Amino acid sequence: MTATRVRLTSPVNDPLAGSASSDEQNSVRHRLNAERASTLHRIASLTRQFDAIVESSALTTNDDEHDPEGSTVAFERAQVGTLLAGAKRHLIAVDQAVTRFLNGSYGVCERCGQAIAQERLAALPAVGTCIGCTTHVRR
Ligand SMILES: [Zn+2]
Repeated sequence: MTATRVRLTSPVNDPLAGSASSDEQNSVRHRLNAERASTLHRIASLTRQFDAIVESSALTTNDDEHDPEGSTVAFERAQVGTLLAGAKRHLIAVDQAVTRFLNGSYGVCERCGQAIAQERLAALPAVGTCIGCTTHVRR
């Protein structure tokens, strides 16, 4: 055991240092955990919905291609499938945010390196880019 190792906190790698207390760090951690838990919950419930739709369509639309119910089921399935894919993507984004939090780069824009506005992080805990860069990406 080497007890002489001193743990240095680098203000450069920690965007929350200086301006933010450890209470705020805790609230970020709490927020990310809550975001992760609710996303997992959403994925589980959408998966159940998706499976239920697939199951019911297997039971009802076997013998009639022109069943108007069939297109409704297909639409519902596509809709839930889209939501499910979105929730899974979001989970990946949350995990990436957790990684950034652990390595001290949380709250720093991945593209331009500027600090992301606190209000933006509060609204979107998993966001990895500042508002300016997000607008650039989307356009
Ligand atoms: Zn940026």
